[in-house]
Amino acid sequence: MCLICRGKLLEGLEYLRVCRNVTTLPELPQSLIQLDCINCPLLTTFPKLPQSLKYLWCFNCPLLTTLPELPQSLIGLSCSVCPLLNTIPELPQSLTYLDCLKCPSIQYLPRLPQSLKYLNCSNCHLLTTFPELPQSLKQLNCSKCVNLIFIPENAKKHISSEMLETINSNYLKWRKEQTLNWFSSTHGIVYEDLIRKTWHPSRIIDWCWDTEEVKWFKSLQ
Ligand SMILES: [Zn+2]
Repeated sequence: MCLICRGKLLEGLEYLRVCRNVTTLPELPQSLIQLDCINCPLLTTFPKLPQSLKYLWCFNCPLLTTLPELPQSLIGLSCSVCPLLNTIPELPQSLTYLDCLKCPSIQYLPRLPQSLKYLNCSNCHLLTTFPELPQSLKQLNCSKCVNLIFIPENAKKHISSEMLETINSNYLKWRKEQTLNWFSSTHGIVYEDLIRKTWHPSRIIDWCWDTEEVKWFKSLQ
């Protein structure tokens, strides 16, 4: 049983850990620095977060679908293992730590703040890309993001060669589909058949839109 279940939210409270019985949170004190909602199977939403908050840990909250607007004071956010969470709101510029691993409903990450040092978005199966990484980033984990198609140029140094290969082959598949769609819509079935017969990864240059893309693609290989 936590402070909420006991009906006591003390003025001046800095740390609050919510227990598994909590369904909704009351208005939070303006002194709160850290809020932990870890393994909260009944929690569906959050109230407005206080401007004092530095750390928000919501981990394994199976009914959580959204996060509230994040305060400008926030340094660390974890929203990992939240299977219904489908978006992460705009991230404050102060954020240095973001964990959103095993969130199978997240399709996009928001713009990453310039202060971010650590990002773990592994096992997010709907992620097809992620935004430009800030120069400040020290560690990136995007392992088992099996559907990544594009990654920003500066992400490559953080990624294993196996992961790059996966992205590379996803890109080829995606590209082929785009090309096939384009040809079948404009020139008909003859071209589609031709592409199917002549397709090979080493011929990627033939399928790239422009020289920039060829350069980018070659740098991956
Ligand atoms: Zn409680």
